[in-house]
Amino acid sequence: MKGTKPLKQLKLSVPAEKTPITDFLTASGTFQDGDLLLNQKGLRLISEEKETRSSDAKELDFQISLEDLETIKVIGKGSGGVVQLVRHKWVGRLFALKVIQMNIQEDARKQIVQELKINQALQCPHIVVCHHSFYHNGVISLVLEYMDRGSLADVIKQVKTILEPYLAVVCKQVLQGLVYLHNERHVIHRDIKPSNLLVNHKGEVKITDFGVSVMLASSIGQRDTFVGTYNYMSPERITGSTYDYSSDIWSLGMVVLECAIGRFPYKQSEEQQGWPNFYELLETIVVKSPPSAPPDQFSPEFCSFISACIQKDPRDRMSSLDLLNHPFIKKFENKDIHLAILVDSLEVPVNFPR
Ligand code: ATP
Ligand code: MG
Repeated sequence: MKGTKPLKQLKLSVPAEKTPITDFLTASGTFQDGDLLLNQKGLRLISEEKETRSSDAKELDFQISLEDLETIKVIGKGSGGVVQLVRHKWVGRLFALKVIQMNIQEDARKQIVQELKINQALQCPHIVVCHHSFYHNGVISLVLEYMDRGSLADVIKQVKTILEPYLAVVCKQVLQGLVYLHNERHVIHRDIKPSNLLVNHKGEVKITDFGVSVMLASSIGQRDTFVGTYNYMSPERITGSTYDYSSDIWSLGMVVLECAIGRFPYKQSEEQQGWPNFYELLETIVVKSPPSAPPDQFSPEFCSFISACIQKDPRDRMSSLDLLNHPFIKKFENKDIHLAILVDSLEVPVNFPR
């Protein structure tokens, strides 16, 4: 669990100085790009207001402003910023506030705004809701739905491995999120990994951080650079070739296999902790045969599911929609398997109140 140390009276720190992003703001501190307004008060889609609020966001009968959010503690830290648990002072509702320090160049702004726009418009029970996004003094703050059992990375740190029936339930929900992204929104997530799959006490699993990798890359001024871990990246993507939705499927397969066997699927030497460098990982992913589930330890359905995802040739991978009907998912459907039982049996990380 990253960043477990609770901080007292933590305040949102926003730099007072102007950063390059202010270059594209008007004197009033507002950036307008077509139908979109971004400023300290948040992201507003002028012409598409109705259409772009998520279903969860529509239920909010109050307007969120940053001043109304009080920080309870830091939940975690990623490569691009800090995630805090915050409470709305007047209504008491909890949110996760993700704060990303931006340092973007003029030519990257359109892409960031585009990602923010899509992010706030996503409406699916298996995608973490982005209620609002704010820009202030070079900092982008995303007000997100709070997932009170943390990420799948937190879960596997505690339980080491997840049994097939639970994995099927996790997979089904992630696939429902991916079907929505791929088939309805026509977008690739690009950063499916254990820390971006979040869980709550109801046993719901949701995908988060859509578009954030793009924002982070833009913020370091290199839009084609990926920020984060390359571990779950498909061969075509890590080599810089063109990639499509099936790249997310490779990543999903790697995540699921890791949850099942309790370690990163490519074999590493006993004493090795992580990868010594990017090129070694790249070579492994590109040259070695793809990892698979050991048939003596797992069901034929599970092995087949993994092999339907982890194929070096993207054309050999199944689509998210077809995977939803895979025998592995079907096998445990209607079996009354509640993920809530799994997450409730966990020792709750200090940062996640029950
Ligand atoms: P990276 O930045 O390298 O992609 P990451 O995904 O772990 O890594 P963040 O996205 O900043 O980094 O998230 C940090 C941690 O905060 C996550 O691992 C997760 O435990 C927690 N977290 C993020 N979003 C939420 C949320 N909406 N609700 C609850 N916890 C969250
Ligand atoms: Mg993340």
